[in-house]
Amino acid sequence: MPRTAHKSAELPPTAGLPLALADFLAAPARPLPDGLRIWLDLPHSPLPVASGTAALAVALHTLRQRLPGRSEVIVPAYTCPLVPLAAGCVPGLRVLACDTLPASPDLDPDRLARLCTERTLAVLPTHLGGRVADVEAAKAIASRCGALVIEDAAQSLGARSGGRSVGLSGDAGFFSLAVGKGLTTYEGGLLFSRQASLQAALKTCAASLLRPRRLLGLRRLLELAGYALFYTPSRLRLVYGRPLRKALRAGDELAAAGDILPSGKIPLHGLGGLRLRAAANALARLPGHLEQGRQRALERLALLRGLDGLSLITDRPGQEGVWPFFMALLPDKEARDRALDRLWGAGVGVTRLFARALPDYAFPDSLVSDPEGCPQARLLADRMLTITNSPWLDADTFRRILEDLRRIL
Ligand SMILES: *Cc1c(COP(=O)(O)O)cnc(C)c1O
Repeated sequence: MPRTAHKSAELPPTAGLPLALADFLAAPARPLPDGLRIWLDLPHSPLPVASGTAALAVALHTLRQRLPGRSEVIVPAYTCPLVPLAAGCVPGLRVLACDTLPASPDLDPDRLARLCTERTLAVLPTHLGGRVADVEAAKAIASRCGALVIEDAAQSLGARSGGRSVGLSGDAGFFSLAVGKGLTTYEGGLLFSRQASLQAALKTCAASLLRPRRLLGLRRLLELAGYALFYTPSRLRLVYGRPLRKALRAGDELAAAGDILPSGKIPLHGLGGLRLRAAANALARLPGHLEQGRQRALERLALLRGLDGLSLITDRPGQEGVWPFFMALLPDKEARDRALDRLWGAGVGVTRLFARALPDYAFPDSLVSDPEGCPQARLLADRMLTITNSPWLDADTFRRILEDLRRIL
């Protein structure tokens, strides 16, 4: 049985930025898109849309208008299962899963080179878990066959490479504002391109695709207010811990990892004014929150590195990722599962990122194909667990997680 850290505390799996009810009321210094443009030094203000998935759907629609003869999108075989559903919003598109490098979420360049053809519309290097993906490698391969590059930075708002924000090397990029990904509007996404003509095309395409959804907008506003009220260690037990433990008891790993795919259509709409206002106010606190997270991560990475047999996904020189959580790989599935038996459900912020490799989810109508197999992505799904980098994870609880891992290794 998992032990519980503190009877009343439940740590979130990621270092989300808390929201205050006052964030809904105060007039922000500037609108969210302008605030992000200035902070991240983007050439244009990003477009706010319903979700990261909706942002990707708009990007793919736009690129398809540019290259109408191309029908394939290549994505890492270990990524968010919503990614193919975004491609499913564009008639005629299909998704190819490309295996990752060993013990890394990056696309394997050799496999990518074999999958890229004159049918390839776009390649999606993905900045997973705050890390910075090798976009240059993907770009070089994509450009040889005339394909475009969309940077999936859903989990990496604030990450930089060579001092520059992620999302600016490819043709387009997007961030997610979903709950748990840092800055949040409960559901939301931001879409941008460094190229002026493409940014204008994304905007035109968004205007034609997005439809107002007033009731859904109201629901999301209430959900975001709920986040402001319940995102604390004492209240997360009710809204996060209890459903998690129920899913674990039922042996439902997909529900426990939050990997249940929506059954209906992906909602394509904009972001309401009040949610944008709350996020614009919260944005003022985000750089400090991320910097503290980075300091904490450096200390804790050093401790995690002291565990023989545990490997960590970290940054390469010149990269300055963000640290919502740590991605740790155990030697094999058996050891990882033993660690999860103790720690998942214990309220200490240990969980799984995605439960499966992409081809192993049930997608509609052969949306996803896996031409070469993806053994490395399956190893990631089998060997990885994540440890929260929430400021609420205190030194004592972190040490207890280390002890549990040491015993298993
Ligand atoms: C969450 C996520 C998405 C989708 O973003 P939503 O805002 O949840 O729709 C896309 N890609 C990755 C890597 C993600 O983690």
